[in-house]
Amino acid sequence: FETASEIFMIKTPAEILKMRAAGKILSRILSEVAAAADEGVTLKDLDNLARGLLKKNRATAAFLGYKPAGADRPFPAALCTSLNDVVVHGVPTRRRLEEGDILKLDFGVSYGGYSADAAVTLAIGRVREKARHLIKATEEALAKAIAAIKPGKTLGDLGYAIMSTASAYGFKIVKGLVGHGIGKKVHEAPEVFNEGRPGAGLELKPGMTLAIEPMLSLGSPWVRKLADDSYATVDGSLAAQFEHTILVTETGAEVLTMI
Ligand code: MG
Repeated sequence: FETASEIFMIKTPAEILKMRAAGKILSRILSEVAAAADEGVTLKDLDNLARGLLKKNRATAAFLGYKPAGADRPFPAALCTSLNDVVVHGVPTRRRLEEGDILKLDFGVSYGGYSADAAVTLAIGRVREKARHLIKATEEALAKAIAAIKPGKTLGDLGYAIMSTASAYGFKIVKGLVGHGIGKKVHEAPEVFNEGRPGAGLELKPGMTLAIEPMLSLGSPWVRKLADDSYATVDGSLAAQFEHTILVTETGAEVLTMI
């Protein structure tokens, strides 16, 4: 049987059109911002670029002024810029990008009353080989999770796909940070765990929209909250994150945050 909350998670065709539009705007802006992320550029420069492009597209930043669970204050920027050991929610500063950095850009867009959310991890200049592997593994974990989506599969199947990709590379899944449902609000039910057992948890149904965001660490899977509300690995290990907003379709998944 279906519970009321499961029915609530199913988007109507009209809602899906709006989310698709938000996702298109997001992915165009995010690729432009990613292309600008180079040595010498500040994190603030990237945030300003994202803000300008949002304005041009008559869209708004889903994260600006948003206070996620556990945060002490609303997020002060459009773009999350998380460097090296910072996993998520990094606040853009005057810090200049340097060769060897790994940078996570996490971006939420609201358009026509609906949201989309996506993230990428970038290598700035040449980075350590281990860092390159970490980025590759995290991107692959997201691809495997998306490939596992089909009506009748469960959130546990997604988590299992992410977890087994991470362990094949010898990396850890970051604890305590998860993906989420998405729609009118950028964070909706259900929580989308990056670990799981095949067949366990909520069953996927056509019309569900999820933000899937594997986060992998080179060392400790544990994070601590920093003064700016961002989360960093407790041992200073590098971390990577990739994220897409997807729609569960009749046959699989449609990635809403891809050009
Ligand atoms: Mg997200």
